[in-house]
Amino acid sequence: MSEILSLKCDVLVVGAGPAGAVCAAKLAKKKFEVICIDKSSCPGEAHTPKIDIVESKGIEKLVKEFNLDFLSKTNKSVWCSPNNKFTFVSSVKDIFFLRGTSKNSLDNSLFLAMKNNGVDVWFNSKPVDLNLKNGVVSSVVINKKGKKIIVEPKIIVAATGNDSFFSQKLNVTEFNPVSIVGFGSLMKNLSLENNSTYIFFDEFYAPGGYFFVGRVSDKIGIAMVVANKSRLKKPLKDYFYEFIEKNSELYSIFLNAEPINFNSGERTISMISKRVSGNVVFCGDAARTMSPVFAYGVNPAMNSSYFLAQSIIKNGLNLPALTEYNKELKKFLGNEKQRHLFRGIYDKLTNQDFDFLVDSANYLNSKQHLDDLIDFNKYKSRNLVFALLRKPHISITLTLKAAAKIFLPFY
Ligand SMILES: Cc1cc2nc3c(=O)[nH]c(=O)nc-3n(C[C@H](O)[C@H](O)[C@H](O)COP(=O)(O)OP(=O)(O)OC[C@H]3O[C@@H](n4cnc5c(N)ncnc54)[C@H](O)[C@@H]3O)c2cc1C
Repeated sequence: MSEILSLKCDVLVVGAGPAGAVCAAKLAKKKFEVICIDKSSCPGEAHTPKIDIVESKGIEKLVKEFNLDFLSKTNKSVWCSPNNKFTFVSSVKDIFFLRGTSKNSLDNSLFLAMKNNGVDVWFNSKPVDLNLKNGVVSSVVINKKGKKIIVEPKIIVAATGNDSFFSQKLNVTEFNPVSIVGFGSLMKNLSLENNSTYIFFDEFYAPGGYFFVGRVSDKIGIAMVVANKSRLKKPLKDYFYEFIEKNSELYSIFLNAEPINFNSGERTISMISKRVSGNVVFCGDAARTMSPVFAYGVNPAMNSSYFLAQSIIKNGLNLPALTEYNKELKKFLGNEKQRHLFRGIYDKLTNQDFDFLVDSANYLNSKQHLDDLIDFNKYKSRNLVFALLRKPHISITLTLKAAAKIFLPFY
């Protein structure tokens, strides 16, 4: 690397994905001096073109505030187990965002929000070293297109997705990591009505995951198989084709379909030992905020970094701001141990369990809207008890699987 340049700023954001960009844009709007760096060469390059489904809670206000492009919204999903089906119309919407480098992608509109608010954005740039003094990073050595630049920020936001640069440098420990992999395609001519999504569960064709297919408009849809990498016995794309071939409902959806482009990726689900280390704060996937069962990460990535920006705006560029962020994020994510326990149980479910769960969801929704299940104070627990009592032998095996996961972690 040639030439050394030294710069100061309030906040250095590393990673221009949803987590990094939301935080950078929000802070710059409030006149903080923000530099955002990304190792890719343009917005969205880290993601092959795909459509991400994002629960709208907390996101609609960001769509307005940052003028974010999205393809459409839906609140209708159909859940299918091998022998059962349940159509759910929720009060919570899902927003379809295009990811990747195209003009109307989420990544590109977040980049525009950063630029419009005055963030100094550098592509082809990544940190190569950190200078630490008493646990606080005094400066970051950056390689910007082969040029060495030393930046002295007051706060550093690590929003690097799955990349482990900061966690390695700052000794962040990861507990029980599970690799979740996805393979799919943007599709033309899916035989589905617009703005509808289907999710299929099967222990053999999507082990530890699901098959997701949705149609956004007359022109475009998305199909993807998601699985737990450690349970795969062959390449993931084989599961994609086999699932379509073996499931008659999926087969009919794909009868006239044509792939536009294929995409694949991998994410880690885990719990980490800390999200704040001195003046470095982790956001989004780097903070392991993704939902452990469905591996959806865009909503928590954007919400986590919005909390961080709000806390810095309220408290200033100091450590109490980071502590408050940590508390807010914990509140938002809820009981993390329990969420990760669900991942463990999910990995043990058989097709008989999926049939029972989908049927129970149908039954429960007929008694009281399933949205209320999220709020246990509102939910009448007798409905849940009646649902479980309908097939006691399966309820008992499910309870035993949960108990085994708690008391025998390696089960
Ligand atoms: C195949 C697949 C399908 C998915 N589908 C969905 C879905 O439907 N819904 C959903 O909610 N989520 C989905 N996700 C997850 C979602 O993509 C992530 O949770 C989300 O992008 C997280 O945002 P982020 O900003 O934390 O990380 P990222 O989007 O990964 O952004 C990180 C950024 O940091 C940059 N970077 C990384 N390391 C460095 C470094 N050392 N120096 C500089 N820059 C760096 C990268 O180039 C990138 O731009 C999917 C993931 C995959 C892989």
